[in-house]
Amino acid sequence: MLKRIKQITLNVLKNGGIFQLALNSQWRQDRLLILAYHGISIEDEHEYDSDLFMSPDLFRSRLDLLKAYNCNVLPLNEAITRLYKGDLPHNSVALTFDDGYYNFYKQAYPIIKEYGFPTTLYLTTFYSIYNRPVFDCACQYILWKSREQTLDLSGLTGTKLKIDLIQAASRSFVFRNIKDFCSRENLNAVEMDKFAAHLAAQLDFDYEDLASRRLMNYLNPDEIRVLASDNLDIQIHTHRHQSPLDQHQFKNEILENVIHIQDISSIQPTHFCYPGGIYDMAFLDWLADLDIVSATTCEPGLASRNSKRLLLPRLVDVTALAPIEFEGWLTGVSSAIPRRKFTYNRGVN
Ligand SMILES: [Zn+2]
Repeated sequence: MLKRIKQITLNVLKNGGIFQLALNSQWRQDRLLILAYHGISIEDEHEYDSDLFMSPDLFRSRLDLLKAYNCNVLPLNEAITRLYKGDLPHNSVALTFDDGYYNFYKQAYPIIKEYGFPTTLYLTTFYSIYNRPVFDCACQYILWKSREQTLDLSGLTGTKLKIDLIQAASRSFVFRNIKDFCSRENLNAVEMDKFAAHLAAQLDFDYEDLASRRLMNYLNPDEIRVLASDNLDIQIHTHRHQSPLDQHQFKNEILENVIHIQDISSIQPTHFCYPGGIYDMAFLDWLADLDIVSATTCEPGLASRNSKRLLLPRLVDVTALAPIEFEGWLTGVSSAIPRRKFTYNRGVN
C-alpha cells in the first residue's frame, strides 16, 4: 500500500515538472547516486530471489533510463574524487556490482559494454578461487526448485522432521536448520559442497548440472583476468564475504581480499563495500588504518560532500523497484520521500 502511494506521489511529481526541476538543480549536481547490483539472471534466478537477481531485460531498461535522463555515469574513483572536490557533472551516477557472480561475466558485462558505462565490481575472492556453487545460494535455489517436494531432514541434519517445501517460510526454516548444522559441525567449504550435493540428491536435483551451468558460481580467476584486461574496475568486498567484529580478523579479511585481487588482476584496489551492507562504527578506524579511500553501504541515498567517505550511501536496485521509483532516485526526488527503514542484510557465503 505504502509502495503504491509512493508511486502515485512520484508520478504526480514527475507530471508536475518536479523531476525536471530536481534534475537541473544545484542540489542534484552536488550529489552522486551510487547504484548497486548483484546478479543478472542466466535462467530463472530472479524468480528464486528477486532482490539478489534481476532479469537481463529489466537491467537493460534501467540502463535505458540512465541514458534517457542524460546521467553522467562516472568511474567510481573519479566520481568520489569529484564529489569531494565539488565538481561533479550533472546527474552523476556510479554503477557497482557486488560479489562477482559468473553471471556478471556472462550477462551483465556485455550489456554494460553496449552502453559504454564504466562499472566497478566489488569482488569477494574465496568462492572465486574455490569455484564451486556458493553454498547459501545453491542450497536455497535447490530448495526453491524442489518446492513441490517434501524433505526429510533426519538424513541431512539429524532433525527428525519431514517438511513440505511449498511455503517460503518452510524453506527458510530448512535453510536455517542446514546453516545451524554446518556451523555446529564446523564444516569446511569442501564438506559444505558435499552437503549441498547430498541435499540435492535427496530432492532428485542434479547438483553437478547446476555447478556446470554456474548459476550460483562466482567468476573464476581466468574470467577476472579477462575483465581486468578490458579495464573493468575491481574493488574490495572481503575474502569470505564477512565483516568480523574482531579488528585483527576484519583487517585480515580485507588484506586477503586485496592480495587475491592484486594477484589475479594486477589491480591495486582501494575502495571497499561492506558485505551485506553491514557495518559497525569501529570499522571506520580500521578501514582508515588500511588506507581505504571509500566504503559503500546499502543504505539508500545520494552521496554529498557531507557524507562520510567510509559510509557512502548506495541504492541497491532490485526487481521490485518500479521504474518511476528508479527515475525518482536518478533525479534525487526519491531521497525526500519517506521509506521503510533499511533492512538489507544478506550473508552470501
Ligand atoms: Zn556482497
